[in-house]
Amino acid sequence: MDLFTDLPEGFEQISIPDKPAKGAWSIDIEQVAKATQLLGIELPIKIRYQGKGIFTAGTHYIRPYMHFVALLQTLPLDKANKTLWHELAHAMQAERWSRETGRDICSHYREEYKVASGSWGFSYGGNRLEIEANGIAKAQSHWKLLYGDYYASSS
Ligand SMILES: [Zn+2]
Repeated sequence: MDLFTDLPEGFEQISIPDKPAKGAWSIDIEQVAKATQLLGIELPIKIRYQGKGIFTAGTHYIRPYMHFVALLQTLPLDKANKTLWHELAHAMQAERWSRETGRDICSHYREEYKVASGSWGFSYGGNRLEIEANGIAKAQSHWKLLYGDYYASSS
């Protein structure tokens, strides 16, 4: 199967929750579509909220054959916007790796991400893919993928 041309029928390119997040923001699907174009992301993306009790502000997983992004819905708007950029950067990294290596994108976490964490054990902050994702999130943070009251959440 050619990942980037033979998508199964019925896959929506981008899917988002149908309600605003508890943090009083909503996802701007058109801006997300533009951002994925900029990043060269070709697979569909499903964005969902996650509740409290999860350790991170956001998560990116690969599902055959799509990206799954979960955002902590209680985040303030600015933080949520940056987090979404960060997770989209991970989607970009996974596709880039798959294109460059010819490997199945579902193996990305095991074959590139975990290796990038270092042989001495799991390192989040020192992982070059995390550093790259943080850099992209910082550089793009003025670009709003979410709508809501940015003034009220300027923390
Ligand atoms: Zn990350």
